[in-house]
Amino acid sequence: MSTEAPRSAPRIASRVAAIAESATLKVDAKAKALKAEGRPIVSFAAGEPDFATPQHVVDAAVDAARDPRNHHYTPAAGLLELREAIVAKTRTVSGADVTAGQVIVTNGGKQAVYQAFATLVDVGDEVLLPAPYWTTYPEAIRLAGGVPVEVFAGSDQDYLVTVEQLEAARTDRTKVLLFCSPSNPTGAVYSPEQTRAIGEWALEHGIWVISDEIYQDLVYDGTVATGILAAVPALADQTVLVNGVAKTYAMTGWRVGWMIGPADVVRAAGNLQSHLSSNVSNVSQRAAIAALTGPQEPVIAMREAFARRRRLIVDGLNAIPGFTTPTPQGAFYVYPDVTALLGRTWRGVTPTTSLELADMILDEAEVAVVPGEAFGPSGYLRLSYALGDDDIREGVARLTRLFS
Ligand code: PMP
Repeated sequence: MSTEAPRSAPRIASRVAAIAESATLKVDAKAKALKAEGRPIVSFAAGEPDFATPQHVVDAAVDAARDPRNHHYTPAAGLLELREAIVAKTRTVSGADVTAGQVIVTNGGKQAVYQAFATLVDVGDEVLLPAPYWTTYPEAIRLAGGVPVEVFAGSDQDYLVTVEQLEAARTDRTKVLLFCSPSNPTGAVYSPEQTRAIGEWALEHGIWVISDEIYQDLVYDGTVATGILAAVPALADQTVLVNGVAKTYAMTGWRVGWMIGPADVVRAAGNLQSHLSSNVSNVSQRAAIAALTGPQEPVIAMREAFARRRRLIVDGLNAIPGFTTPTPQGAFYVYPDVTALLGRTWRGVTPTTSLELADMILDEAEVAVVPGEAFGPSGYLRLSYALGDDDIREGVARLTRLFS
């Protein structure tokens, strides 16, 4: 039998070949490589808290690793104790009344995002995707055979789409709306009224909502991230919530997220997960139980640090001519509009896109930022403020020198 592939078959299947490398991870990797060469890079590219995981969570994981109960397969949908802790958090923070049977524990919020789209989206279905969007969404939509339909909101509307914009983009193929508040990359948070208006519009038109709530605990100035099901409880039968411990508890490496949805959706997604990945590491699940049910002081301390750094970076960037930076109410990103900087020349370089601008900033100022192209249209930069205050000051000072 020939071992050669038929000539007409591409080596890589088209649906996987079409997936682009994660642009955020790429910039982060380049910054880390330059740092390893000894260059004094200040990186605003990271998508994760710089804090250590709280000690009581680490201790719970150490205990769990020693406990033989955790050494073998457990139910693919997750440990019941964890799913109950997730139910409690979802009630108090998301304002949604759900049961443990509606929860699937996933390998990070990312798997929940993939599974939610895989379970809801058929070939040719359109998904309304407010832009700027997190870089993974369009790939997950396309992998499911769906068509991402971008609905753009710029800095003039604080990066928040309106019902009118969504309605203008709706067709008879529209099946799902992706809703992410607080947002990665912009940090924008929809008000309770805006959330309700969007939820009611989705309900009226029978559009599913995938609501990514992974940044819901990271909000500032008394802002509340209103859960879409708290705003419109009747939407429960057509909503999937996505969440995880990564951002709130500085647990990105532990890989624990979850999806919550109506019984039929959860059953189907659970079947998928039972063949795909089975249970998430029991040690990580036990750590997540400790995070959700243990003392919350570390979360408060992290939020306070982020609030201080947010002020530092927004004030610093807005003092640079050409940067328009709305004050984000959540997450740990700022998203300056830099369209005023494009087409101008600094140190002999004339960037015409934010991609070129980000390259120039890395080369000339040794500062890593992620260009807007990773999240939608050109003309923007994403800066994470999940780094030390002194690094933020130094990075902003370098940008100020470059553009003054
Ligand atoms: N949703 C959003 C909006 C995110 O920014 C991220 C992480 N970058 C995730 C989901 C997934 O996080 P994780 O897989 O680490 O839980």
